Amino acid sequence: MLRTNSCGELRLTDAGKQVTLCGWVQRNRVMGGMTFIDLRDRYGITQLVFNSEQNKELCNEAQKLGREFVIKATGIVAERSSKNPKIPTGEIEVIVSSLEILNPSKTPPFTIEDETDGGEDLRMKFRYLDIRRNPVKKALLLRHRMAQETRCFFDQQGFIEIETPVLIKSTPEGARDFIVPSRMNPHEFYALPQSPQTFKQLLMVAGIDKYFQIVKCFRDEDLRADRQPEFTQVDCEMSFIEQEDILQVFEKYAVHLFHNVKGLKLQKFPRITFADAMRDYGNDKPDIRFGMKLKNITSVVKGKNFKVIDDAQTVLAIASEGCSEYTRKQLDELTDFVKRPQIGASGLIYVKFNTDGSIKSSVDKFYSEDDLKNWMLAAEAKPGDLILVLAGDENKIRKAASELRLEMGHRLGLRNPDVFAPLWVVDFPLLEWDEEAKRFHAMHHPFTSPLPEDIPLLDSDPGKVRANAYDMVINGVEIGGGSIRIHNRKLQQKLFSLLGFTKEQAESQFGFLMNAFEYGAPPHGGIAFGFDRLCSLFGGSDSIRDYMAFPKNNAGRDVMIDAPSAISQHQLDELNLVLKEKQY
Ligand code: ASP
Repeated sequence: MLRTNSCGELRLTDAGKQVTLCGWVQRNRVMGGMTFIDLRDRYGITQLVFNSEQNKELCNEAQKLGREFVIKATGIVAERSSKNPKIPTGEIEVIVSSLEILNPSKTPPFTIEDETDGGEDLRMKFRYLDIRRNPVKKALLLRHRMAQETRCFFDQQGFIEIETPVLIKSTPEGARDFIVPSRMNPHEFYALPQSPQTFKQLLMVAGIDKYFQIVKCFRDEDLRADRQPEFTQVDCEMSFIEQEDILQVFEKYAVHLFHNVKGLKLQKFPRITFADAMRDYGNDKPDIRFGMKLKNITSVVKGKNFKVIDDAQTVLAIASEGCSEYTRKQLDELTDFVKRPQIGASGLIYVKFNTDGSIKSSVDKFYSEDDLKNWMLAAEAKPGDLILVLAGDENKIRKAASELRLEMGHRLGLRNPDVFAPLWVVDFPLLEWDEEAKRFHAMHHPFTSPLPEDIPLLDSDPGKVRANAYDMVINGVEIGGGSIRIHNRKLQQKLFSLLGFTKEQAESQFGFLMNAFEYGAPPHGGIAFGFDRLCSLFGGSDSIRDYMAFPKNNAGRDVMIDAPSAISQHQLDELNLVLKEKQY
């Protein structure tokens, strides 16, 4: 060992001991005859002192140490005269008697402090320097802790961690695959797994009745703040279970994580159907830290010659508690908010129910006070509330109202990141109609079982069939999703045919799974948690990148290693790949 202690370890009780520390120079200050160096490592910061009266040469050497030099210093631990209560080692310093430069450093391109002057691009290019900063290091430590607690929980529950392959077969369902050419099989390609779905189902057929894996998944999708081309799932599957068993085991997992990592006790998880979530929140991943449910007031508002409302398919209201005093400016801001192209509403109607009982609205021309009182009843508003009303096409308006509700929750400080409100959303539709492609898509994936009571509808009204599927949602974030699976060849074939596969296509792509179903496949189901998202939720950030050691940027690039990159003609030839001319 080059060191006796870490830079986060020494306390007043160590005074008088001789120690050797190694680390990076965070700061170097010369004050009169004294030189002070803040020495940093993974564990903390310790102050080193050099006294020119005692050792002039050593002190001169110390003065020359630049930021991020790696050094080894030996000396005696002493009580500090001016203590720093902000750091755990703040009561001591080390009076150095010998110093060795282990490696000098160029001046770093940004400051390695909690608040840095480095922009995102620069920090990503020098991610190894960024990780030296406390906030990034803390995020990785949190991730480590959560991974350990995950393994510990599933191990205790009798789950087996099994690795599934990374080079698999491309299938057209779901997102776009990342493709890998095969040198040994010219003109054929592997795909990177979007999830280990089919493998975990095969493990159930194999009799491994409780499986889990912390696993990398790959999806070639356009990126957003909470998406990355490669991400990690906590992937699980169980046999001989029903939906209820899954919900209970994985609720227990969430409770375990919150308790062991954050010291928080989660309340029981409410359950809500997809239909109710859409009705009350306009969203299948509702943030239930606050109320302000959407109210459909269509039937009370029509017929007063106000075209916007009379022509609307749906009219939705949100009663914002205690907001009747909103100013013109605040209302204009909200109107601009709903008119943004991403939200897509054409305007916003408001009604203020003042605490003195008077009513003021943006539609006073069309509606009497009595009419507006009916609005208030329908919106379940009380004096002091502001009713925000959106009118138009059902799907568009519901989505806009959902966004507006979240915006109001944010403005009213009701989305506190330290409060956690989990729930299960259940009974999703099995299929989703794609108007453009004129075909159904699986809402979860094609292996999801219909609810048993809805199976007859597969023939008569497939769009109405509900899936035996569930999502865990916390604070408006989908944390995990899964389903009870089909384990019967005939039903699986039927699903593929509803999804527009010919018999041959289904056979060539998923024949291996359907064949396995004929060798004693047990009833089974599972779930996968988005591990990066779970970490960011625990850490209180919106960006999953902060919880990945080496994330990609918005264009899917790793700017540090400069990937993806061109490959040599030799490699292309070996892989039997011919590149198309670039077209400008
Ligand atoms: N494989 C699914 C997914 O990645 C999760 C599951 O159904 O278990 O979304």
